[in-house]
Amino acid sequence: MPINVSALDSLSDHVNDVRLRTAELINNEILPYEGDLFASRRGTAVTDADKKRSKDLRESVKSKVKSAGLWAPHLPAEYGGMGLDFMAHAYMNEILAYAVGAASLFGVVAPNSGNQKILVKYGTEEQKRRWLLPLIEGTMESGFSMTEPDNAGSDPRSIKTSARLEGDEFVINGHKWFTSNGIDADFFIVMCRVDDPSGEAGRSGSMAQIIVPTNTPGVNIVRGIGIWGHATSDHCEVIYDNVRVPAENVLGRVGQGHEAAQERLGAGRVFHCMNCVGQMWRAFDLMVERSLSREVHGGKLKDKQFIQGFIADSYIDLQTARLLTIRAAELIDRGDPQARTEISALKIYVPEAFSRVADRAIQIWGAAGVSNDLPLAQMYLAARTLRIADGPDEVHKILIAKNVLHHYEKGLSWDFAR
Ligand SMILES: Cc1cc2nc3c(=O)[nH]c(=O)nc-3n(C[C@H](O)[C@H](O)[C@H](O)COP(=O)(O)OP(=O)(O)OC[C@H]3O[C@@H](n4cnc5c(N)ncnc54)[C@H](O)[C@@H]3O)c2cc1C
Repeated sequence: MPINVSALDSLSDHVNDVRLRTAELINNEILPYEGDLFASRRGTAVTDADKKRSKDLRESVKSKVKSAGLWAPHLPAEYGGMGLDFMAHAYMNEILAYAVGAASLFGVVAPNSGNQKILVKYGTEEQKRRWLLPLIEGTMESGFSMTEPDNAGSDPRSIKTSARLEGDEFVINGHKWFTSNGIDADFFIVMCRVDDPSGEAGRSGSMAQIIVPTNTPGVNIVRGIGIWGHATSDHCEVIYDNVRVPAENVLGRVGQGHEAAQERLGAGRVFHCMNCVGQMWRAFDLMVERSLSREVHGGKLKDKQFIQGFIADSYIDLQTARLLTIRAAELIDRGDPQARTEISALKIYVPEAFSRVADRAIQIWGAAGVSNDLPLAQMYLAARTLRIADGPDEVHKILIAKNVLHHYEKGLSWDFAR
């Protein structure tokens, strides 16, 4: 079933145009060929010829995306991207996410896309030439190495990986895990705590993000960690053992590491949640489509009240998640200090709502729901993972309560209509 998108009065002609043209590509070039485009994931690409056919098809879709001017919505125009503003990007994401996995065909592949944005903002001209441009051209891969097995990822101040300044080099020692894309990456952006006896690089103990080529001696990729019952994955455990890189590999200033990581996550949470909304939209359409056609126990699913309940509850979940996300995006866009509270609220609410909708869609589809023939199982796992990644629910709840209480302690009450 194609995504049903129309122009919205509240959006500019430009954003409407981007959304409609994205939907056209999704409906005409991606959804009808999903099985072939993502054959490896579905287990239907067995021979090398199958894999090549699938890759060629993906390349042909990418060319169409580029010709349509819809390539790399996250990047400025000078780096070959669409140069979209924040709201336009958020509104495009819900359409793009409808076809699960299609973002890669539009040049958006995590964690490369997040690293590209960090390099655009904090990279020197030389860093951009060496790392950003190949990343954009697709001749290099990257990872973001922040979380450590022995310290709480939900509290980035607990990071212990050290970068000791010795002459014109940093010597990095530490233990990370869940560094995604670690198997293929040519470089990692590693979050470190600087140990600088001279204080010249900045205050000792300050956080810094340092570019580390993965072929540097001492970078030991221990394993791809098995997740969700699979034996392995590209989320890697990495030990940095006296890894020496030039001091010029630091991104921005020493001390900016925490700020840069928060920035990566802050607006990123809105994009992630718009992605969730797009996927919920797809799950919802699949749920309704199946309930209209499947005969069970002498009648169509659509006529069973259990199923009508699933549809109604999912409708409410989707609309609520979408409106909450758009409201947070609008607050961020106008620089409202209340945005932080709203971002935390949506980061808790949307993945949970997404989980519920994917869960009901799976239930309606029965065994097919958990198969790789449909994107529902993948959605379900992604929704569950999102409740941990980008800040676990509990951390966001604490932040909401603190912000609200602080407001009331100042003698004010909360303005929900703002
Ligand atoms: C699939 C996947 C991909 C990932 N990719 C990357 C990546 O590319 N790079 C990277 O650096 N990291 C990555 N991560 C790691 C992710 O960012 C962390 O898992 C996340 O930040 C949580 O950290 P943690 O796992 O150490 O949990 P912890 O910090 O140990 O927290 C565990 C649990 O404790 C609870 N908790 C935490 N704080 C509080 C509190 N104050 N009060 C009450 N309860 C609390 C929460 O329930 C939380 O889930 C990935 C994770 C997954 C699952």
